[in-house]
Amino acid sequence: MKLTITDLSKTYDNGVQALQNVSLEISKGMFGLLGPNGAGKSTLMRTIATLQDADGGSIFLDDLDVQAQKHPVRKVLGYLPQQFGVYPKMTAEFLLHHFAVLKGITNKSDRKEIVNALLHKTNLYEVRKRKLGGFSGGMKQRFGIAQALLNSPTLLIIDEPTAGLDPKERNRFYNLLGEIAEDAIVILSTHIVDDIKELCTQMAIINKGKVVLQGNPLQLIEQLNGKVYQKSIQRTEVAAYKKAYQVVNDKLFLGKPIIQIISEENPGNGFTAVEATLEEVYFSQINN
Ligand code: ADP
Repeated sequence: MKLTITDLSKTYDNGVQALQNVSLEISKGMFGLLGPNGAGKSTLMRTIATLQDADGGSIFLDDLDVQAQKHPVRKVLGYLPQQFGVYPKMTAEFLLHHFAVLKGITNKSDRKEIVNALLHKTNLYEVRKRKLGGFSGGMKQRFGIAQALLNSPTLLIIDEPTAGLDPKERNRFYNLLGEIAEDAIVILSTHIVDDIKELCTQMAIINKGKVVLQGNPLQLIEQLNGKVYQKSIQRTEVAAYKKAYQVVNDKLFLGKPIIQIISEENPGNGFTAVEATLEEVYFSQINN
């Protein structure tokens, strides 16, 4: 099972080049697509999900040409968009049955079995008779996953899933995705570094429509190790340091600014070496 994206490009009517020669090879497991807002993640996700066309390039799911053979691809595809609207007055169980019928699961007893299994899998069985309008953000996301899994997809696409989830809900959501990724290609797009760190065995960073880095998160971190230094400075000094060094991260620690830089050699000047994390990997690509 492999998704092969080659030289995918897309320019919108307003002239925005949302994707520029994007090439990626994605195999079974969790793949994280990380990038800031506007990077092109949703455009890429929607194109893989057969919902919009690119101007150039190709996407193959094994031998299936995703852009030309949309129907067979949709049979094996699950998609959870960034904005997943639910009907607030319907119950989880009712709406899942409704979606199942739309997906062609017309046999009643089959449908019941599938829906019940998914309600259990997403931990919603106990609340299946409750109206979706009363669900928490995490419960709605899990319901979104349940509907995306109705056809047992081998390719699952999830766009920005954890925004608005509290840490406990996020963990539960991660666990569910991890389980699904044992048997499927799961692509998760996010601008949250932690989502990738916890979960993904493969990743790519996309910025301004281009893939700027791809690989295994741990190996990408390893490549930066020994090159990250940090220093606590005064607020008024931030701009000057940004001019003098390759600053990848500036944040507050106990209310005081800390900057992190990348340097091939020990910069001295009060900097101390720190372990590289995925944040520095990410910011070193995005802040260039
Ligand atoms: P991301 O999901 O990473 O935030 P998007 O794929 O949504 O990025 O957007 C990439 C770029 O394309 C942005 O500059 C965005 O404003 C632009 N864009 C997205 N959709 C459209 C559209 N339908 N028409 C015009 N521009 C769009």
